[in-house]
Amino acid sequence: MRRFSLSLLAASLALASATAVAADRATAIPAKAVRTAEQLRDTAMHDGTAYAIVQSLTTEVGPRLAGGPNDQRAREWAVAKMKALGFDRVYTEPVSYPLWERRSESGAIVAPFPQKLALTALGYSPGTPMGGLTAEVIAFPTLEALKAARPPDVKGRIVYVGARMTRQKDGHDYAIGSSVRTQGPVIAQDKGAAGFLLRSAGTDPHSRAPHTGVTGFTDPAKAIPAAALAAPDADQLERVLAYGKPVRVKLDLDCGITGQYTGANVIGEITGRTHPQQIVDIGGHLDSWDPGTGAIDDGAGVAIAMAAAKLIHDLPQRPDRTIRVIAFANEEMGLFGGRAYAEKHGADVANHQLGTESDFGAGRIWRMSASVKPQARGAIEQIAKVLAPIGVAYDARVAGGGGSDLSQMHAKGMAALSLTQDGTHYFDWHHTSEDTLDKIDPADLAQNVAVYAAYAYMAAQADGDFGSAPGAFPGDAGE
Ligand code: ZN
Ligand code: ZN
Repeated sequence: MRRFSLSLLAASLALASATAVAADRATAIPAKAVRTAEQLRDTAMHDGTAYAIVQSLTTEVGPRLAGGPNDQRAREWAVAKMKALGFDRVYTEPVSYPLWERRSESGAIVAPFPQKLALTALGYSPGTPMGGLTAEVIAFPTLEALKAARPPDVKGRIVYVGARMTRQKDGHDYAIGSSVRTQGPVIAQDKGAAGFLLRSAGTDPHSRAPHTGVTGFTDPAKAIPAAALAAPDADQLERVLAYGKPVRVKLDLDCGITGQYTGANVIGEITGRTHPQQIVDIGGHLDSWDPGTGAIDDGAGVAIAMAAAKLIHDLPQRPDRTIRVIAFANEEMGLFGGRAYAEKHGADVANHQLGTESDFGAGRIWRMSASVKPQARGAIEQIAKVLAPIGVAYDARVAGGGGSDLSQMHAKGMAALSLTQDGTHYFDWHHTSEDTLDKIDPADLAQNVAVYAAYAYMAAQADGDFGSAPGAFPGDAGE
């Protein structure tokens, strides 16, 4: 999952503590650290560590549905991998979340033209009654049209929403797909619907692999069965509906919440030499959806962060500040790992120098933005100068959100970057059986490591801070 920031730099500049920081010296990266960062960057561009890590994770653990049979195996894998990479300190912090299970799922058009549909249940969907749920379909082109529907027209029906996403470099159409998926089932439920279907929140119009993802149900007792149709199956349903006859669909979903589970964030550190208590946060989320092996979402993010820290570890001397890699628990079902981390470490936010998480696949990073205090803009420009030769443009108009889980620390006041990857094809495969290792280009992945290693090292060596303080960035929506 990924959230998109609409807030502009203007918001991040509206610092609550503007008067307090006005007297600060400008933060700067010493010339020696810049040279080392350039070397890290150049080494990383030809380093295969990240690819080896994501290959190991997706092969030896495979799918990692939160609370599922591989949750614990993934944590054990992450602890062992961080230790094998030589990190100075490796530990876990518990995270609890509802345990949702997917057992089986199928669907079909029953009338007027009986045939199977390719679909997948959405996270937190309850199962259908034994023998399935059969009801007439009522279709809406958009979420707004569903919102405007009269409850008597929806009652007892299976609601279908057909909103489409198209490919974008920054993936901004996901705002459409994810809002239909999270809000749609709840709105349908409130209007008395029996079930909910959407056109998959994805961008490959030809793939029969449906896209799963979380719903926004808050009361399991009221939740209705909800599933996503593969794009060609959504097309087919729309063609059948166009005949103007009543269309009946059967959903047979065996899934649901079965209890509570305690997993953990897995954390590994390269301990700072002079300011060990000051931290540069990087990471990804360790869980994935179950149909694929979670290569682009988010094995890649975990691998990028681990490999960047490994390169810094291999320098002749430890960095001044601590580099912390966090492999977050259960991002997919509601940012549980990120929220637990912010709850535990939020009071210490001033010590979290600068952070960002990778959770948008493995495409090349093309844009950097930042939420920092005004006196640290020069240091961000120094980082940008090191990253420019590998294709990263600094956009000073956009706020930095910190990525999915670390958006929660940013909301507490952590200075944050956004390192935006090329997501043109990310939503072709996201949350489907197609999220597998072959979708990752090793050279693109290495470019990501180069960006993370260089930025994290410069943040660790900076002379001065980036403005992290309780409540420091109240205007940012986060990303
Ligand atoms: Zn995801
Ligand atoms: Zn993700």
